[in-house]
This record gives sequence, C-alpha cells and structure tokens, in this order.
Amino acid sequence: MDQTHWRHGALLALATAFLCGLAWGEAVKSVVDGDTVELATGDRVRLIGIDSPERGELFYDAAKIYLKDLVLGKAVRIERDADTMDSYGRKLGYLFVGRTFVNGAMVYAGLAYASSHPPNTRYEALLFAAQRDARAARRGLWREQKVSDERFYVGNLSTHKFHRPSCEWAAKIEPKHQVRLTNRVQGLNLDLTPCRSCKP
Ligand SMILES: [Zn+2]
Repeated sequence: MDQTHWRHGALLALATAFLCGLAWGEAVKSVVDGDTVELATGDRVRLIGIDSPERGELFYDAAKIYLKDLVLGKAVRIERDADTMDSYGRKLGYLFVGRTFVNGAMVYAGLAYASSHPPNTRYEALLFAAQRDARAARRGLWREQKVSDERFYVGNLSTHKFHRPSCEWAAKIEPKHQVRLTNRVQGLNLDLTPCRSCKP
C-alpha cells in the first residue's frame, strides 16, 4: 500500500466515522504504552485491533514515543466498534487526529502488530494491509528477523493468534480452528498474531 492509498484508507475511515455519528472529540492527557492512552477525563482507551510491544520488549519505548507524538495534548476523535469496554474496564476505540488514523499509523510504522479482536473488526482488513506493508519494508519491529526456534507452531483460525506448541492456549484450540505452521513466517502470512503469553 503506498502513501496515497494509505491516506485514502484513512479518509475513508474518517468518512465512515462521520456518517455513523460515532466520533467525538477528547483530549489525550497521557500515553500509557503503544496501544493505550489516558484521556483528560481519566478514562483509559485501548486502541482496537493493534498490539504494541509490552514493557521490557523490544520497541516498547519506540512505540510509546511514536504514539505520544501522534496524540499527546491533541484533540482526538474516538470511534467505537461493537464492544465499548474491555475486561479491564478500559474503553475500546479507534483514534483519529486530523486525517491520521492512529491505530493504522502505529501498525504502518511497524510499532504494533495488527490483531484480530472479533467482534471489533471494522478496520481489520486495513490494519492487516498496513502490517503487510510494514513487514515488506521492515519497519520497526519487522527489522528484527526473529528466528523460528520451534519445530512447528500452532495457529488458531478463530482467535487469529499463533502459539508455541507448549503453550497452554495451543492445547485449547478446537481441532476445526487449528492449523499447524512450520515456521513463524507462515503464521504471519496468514495474518495470525503472535500470542502474548508464549511469545512465539
Ligand atoms: Zn501462546
């Protein structure tokens, strides 16, 4: 996806937000990490459809700094999807600053994985397209060529995650959703996101 298409996608997203009447303006007080912000109201918003590196992982700081540059002290529009809250009591949303689709910009920069969170999938195709572009250009965390150190990996076509074979979550995958992967790249090519627990 080139820059023009990317802008086009973001504009389309904005138009959708406007037409659906789902957007409202909020001030961002602080950035918690690469996929969570705190609003002036004190509410925390978890960005839908992306997973940024956690504290202690490579690119944690880079992702946080990049998100700060995008949103800190600015008025953001927040668009909701099917779920308005996650299990931690955080609001769930897509962030827009001017013409920038923030969730997409994080993935495009290679500072967050695209991640499928059904039923909140409105921009899933756009986010995975941004990730394919980031991977191809080896931006951010895609610069690190992680070696496949397992004999195989296990993908879950329902949660869109992939796991090391020893992961407790791998054992819980229903056979009809299970796919065996010979390496990490196969999982990434299927738009599966590395598990946050076993970190394949
Ligand atoms: Zn796992």
